[in-house]
Amino acid sequence: MRLKTFLYTLCLRRYRAVSFDIFDTLLERDVDRPVDVFLRVGDIVLGAGKGEQFQADRIAAEKAARVPAPNGEVTLDDIYEALIAAGYDRETAEELKTEEVRSELNGCFVKASMKPVFDAALKRGKTVFLISDMYLPPEVISGMAARCGYEGYEKLFVSNEYGVSKRSGKLFDEVLKEYDLSKKDLLHIGDSIGADLLGARKAGIAALPVARKNRLGRLLDRS
Ligand SMILES: [Mg+2]
Repeated sequence: MRLKTFLYTLCLRRYRAVSFDIFDTLLERDVDRPVDVFLRVGDIVLGAGKGEQFQADRIAAEKAARVPAPNGEVTLDDIYEALIAAGYDRETAEELKTEEVRSELNGCFVKASMKPVFDAALKRGKTVFLISDMYLPPEVISGMAARCGYEGYEKLFVSNEYGVSKRSGKLFDEVLKEYDLSKKDLLHIGDSIGADLLGARKAGIAALPVARKNRLGRLLDRS
């Protein structure tokens, strides 16, 4: 067992349950920034060279969709409705949405440093949750996890399904409530300072950080 896996696994001992963030924690995507997926989607559906405009429109649509949403939590459908409201025709929007899902599914791969930690948690009989602040439908996210070899976990919690986020601490509260766990039963592992480390702190649960590729670039980009 590698030292890093060993150290994480050691930390699991005191807890009955472990929640893993998904993006940049258990799996990675074949783009530098999540919004770069939109570039590819635009080029494929609208034609070469159209990716940049679509990327800008897709980002703006997500922003617009979040404004009226309770707690700012939106689904992929909400985002594409905002895109239609901004002038895209419905048929094209549907094609773009389908391609976005396909690109996400095809563009993800396992984060090799964390798979052994996930496996060790299961092997040691921990109740394992996946938990994500994300607009993608739960079935797409579980499909991405499955593609990367993540099976056997108890349940996936996605913010857009519950209407509350990790970042606020409230999605962790949902996990505790649904599984009748106390705060000291659960350990969270994730890469985001705001959503994973501070969010867990708001919920009163312990958290461990995970290194993320290109953190500086992402910070400068504020995404
Ligand atoms: Mg993450």
